[in-house]
Amino acid sequence: METTNGKLHIDHSRRSCASSCLRKYYWRYVRNLVPKMGSNALRYGSTWHAFLDGFYSTIKDNGWSASHSAFEAAFSQGKETWQKESSGQDFYSDDYRTFENCTKAFLEYNNYYQMDKEMLRVIDIEKAFSIEFPDFIFDGKLDLQIELNGVNWLMEHKTTSQYISTQAERMNRAAQTIGYWNACRILGFEMEGILINFHQLTSRKNKAGSWGEPTMAFQRTPQLYTKQNVDDWYTHFAWEVHNLERCYETSTWPKNYDSCYQFGRCGYLPLCDQYRPLGEEQLSHFIEKKWDVKKTVSEVIYAVV
Ligand code: SF4
Repeated sequence: METTNGKLHIDHSRRSCASSCLRKYYWRYVRNLVPKMGSNALRYGSTWHAFLDGFYSTIKDNGWSASHSAFEAAFSQGKETWQKESSGQDFYSDDYRTFENCTKAFLEYNNYYQMDKEMLRVIDIEKAFSIEFPDFIFDGKLDLQIELNGVNWLMEHKTTSQYISTQAERMNRAAQTIGYWNACRILGFEMEGILINFHQLTSRKNKAGSWGEPTMAFQRTPQLYTKQNVDDWYTHFAWEVHNLERCYETSTWPKNYDSCYQFGRCGYLPLCDQYRPLGEEQLSHFIEKKWDVKKTVSEVIYAVV
């Protein structure tokens, strides 16, 4: 458990997991376990992020005239992330979320947003932060700060296989983006709001049983929040942190059966179904993988509220 000044460090992923099931939080963030069978969706999402990070960091340092080098940096960072994410875990090979499709999508993305070079300026990229609130330390990483047509935005990249319109509606209530919007204000980054940079990738199997040509779509949707949204966000965060503190103090990690099949089958079901005392489980289908939202970033901005 990471603490500073006696306060628990918490980020969006940890809070969301704790809110869904405290036992799941225990497996993922206390024992650092992930199923040996990896998620194709998460691997694709991380690789997509890496493509965009490599691209926009080169544009930030050298401007749009360095587009060629930016493409090279994007490809090399994307490839490195794909290989890293693929190592140590197994993946279903029969899936359309491949590295080749990610590369195609990146080229398509640049074609779709070809006017960016006239309108978009990269202000900063991949900024990690730790903000000390009265009840907890909020950790996070901001993807990209941009100026688009003279207006500043925090851009957050999201991949999905669902309809972008459904996802956009969901993001308007997303604790992650409300928290990041609040973080920008506290850190003094003047932003109009959050621009969610969606990339949708879907494919269907044909009659022969192989994946058809994937559909790729892109959309940027603005999200604006109010003080009430931020107050609600804080109240819920603090509530979850108090729950977690109680779990750590008493070494009790309640199972929430409501969550076992909420978005498909929970990956930790093989552990929970063993009904063994904590620490005596059979771990053959799991590996250790530590989560750190601030990884890949050397400098972390610290602020106190
Ligand atoms: S299987 Fe159910 S109880 Fe166990 S961690 Fe997953 S959601 Fe929680």
